[in-house]
Amino acid sequence: MPKHYDYIIVGNGLAGLQLALALSKDIFFKDKQIALIDASTKTTNDKTWSFWETKTSKWDAITYQNWQKAKIITSNKNIDLNLTPYTYKTIRAIDFYTEAKAQISLQGNISFLVEHVTSVTENETVLVTTEINNYTANHVFDSRVTNNIKSKLPDYINITQHFKGWVIKTETDCFDTDTITMMDYRLKDGNQTTFTYVLPFSKREALVEFTYFTEHIVEDQVYDKYLKQYIKDYLNIKNYQIIETEKGQIPMTNFPFDKYNTEKVTKIGTAGGWVKGSTGYSFKHTEKKVDKIITNLKTNQLPTKNLFKSKYKFYDKVFLKVLKDENHKGEWIFQQFYNKNSIQTMFRFLDEESSFKEELKVMYSLFSWSFIKAFFKTL
Ligand SMILES: Cc1cc2nc3c(=O)[nH]c(=O)nc-3n(C[C@H](O)[C@H](O)[C@H](O)COP(=O)(O)OP(=O)(O)OC[C@H]3O[C@@H](n4cnc5c(N)ncnc54)[C@H](O)[C@@H]3O)c2cc1C
Repeated sequence: MPKHYDYIIVGNGLAGLQLALALSKDIFFKDKQIALIDASTKTTNDKTWSFWETKTSKWDAITYQNWQKAKIITSNKNIDLNLTPYTYKTIRAIDFYTEAKAQISLQGNISFLVEHVTSVTENETVLVTTEINNYTANHVFDSRVTNNIKSKLPDYINITQHFKGWVIKTETDCFDTDTITMMDYRLKDGNQTTFTYVLPFSKREALVEFTYFTEHIVEDQVYDKYLKQYIKDYLNIKNYQIIETEKGQIPMTNFPFDKYNTEKVTKIGTAGGWVKGSTGYSFKHTEKKVDKIITNLKTNQLPTKNLFKSKYKFYDKVFLKVLKDENHKGEWIFQQFYNKNSIQTMFRFLDEESSFKEELKVMYSLFSWSFIKAFFKTL
């Protein structure tokens, strides 16, 4: 007989570990048998997660760096942003994995299984098959972006946020540690939406990332070319050492991920549509969705009840439509966003916590023929 669990979480990434952490901290689940299954032991620093928040939080102990100032640079404008009361924070993935695994391991009812899941099948219980074992569970939280989902993505508005970043170390003091560069549009790959992102970790160390919001990805050498050029021509740095590399592809899409949830299987993380379509940010959204799932489980509701707010899906869809149809407009859109609205309003809007008045203001700042067309096409 396969070993049975109350909950199986497939994937020890951001969503799986945040969910397991929340389950481990809540006494309500202390008698539940829970398994986390992932082929990876999560022992490398494969990402840096950044997010903004107003308060101190449970992540403060593992926060690598934080900032209160940011800038957006476009071809014709420098926008300086005072983020207060928000703080922009960065966590190294390795610190998150290590801390989360250590805290979860303190609970005797949660097991880590290092296996690759090949299928999740719903019957009376849910059967989880790995390359070497079978398990059953009352409910499965699944962070796999399956081939079935990938094959259907092209049927929707689908852009990829793809990027490569280097953590560079310089020989002299080169960085202003107070201010991050959220987007610098001066260096572009043709007419596409591309920008550079800079997180200064110290006066001599920073993450410099060249990012695309485009339909198609590019070869490795292309990112390298722009990274080198940005460091030389815009940061004016000649001598540096690359001490870490980060690469990523994040779907920016209106794909209806939530339709793949069932009574016994909840898709989580990227696979659950928890990455915000218009930005690619998901760290704080994950935290909120996990809180909601915990509340739903404790009140005997479907875990996915009220997980999404449909009006923000609509806003994201309009935005993605413009970006897909008129990709060269990215610089103008972001300049309008941050020039015509306060950063605090923008953060609340992106956090899906804005008032209707603020939403109207954000929409008005983008008022143009492109958005009117996209609005009606989206309707
Ligand atoms: C390089 C990078 C940087 C990012 N930076 C930010 C950021 O700064 N801020 C932000 O908010 N968001 C960021 N994101 C977006 C988003 O937060 C991350 O992608 C986040 O990791 C998504 O969480 P997840 O749990 O869905 O996926 P992951 O964290 O990738 O976890 C998925 C897990 O599932 C496991 N898995 C997959 N298939 C199987 C299988 N068949 N069997 C068993 N296990 C399996 C994988 O091994 C992995 O551990 C970034 C994304 C990338 C790629």
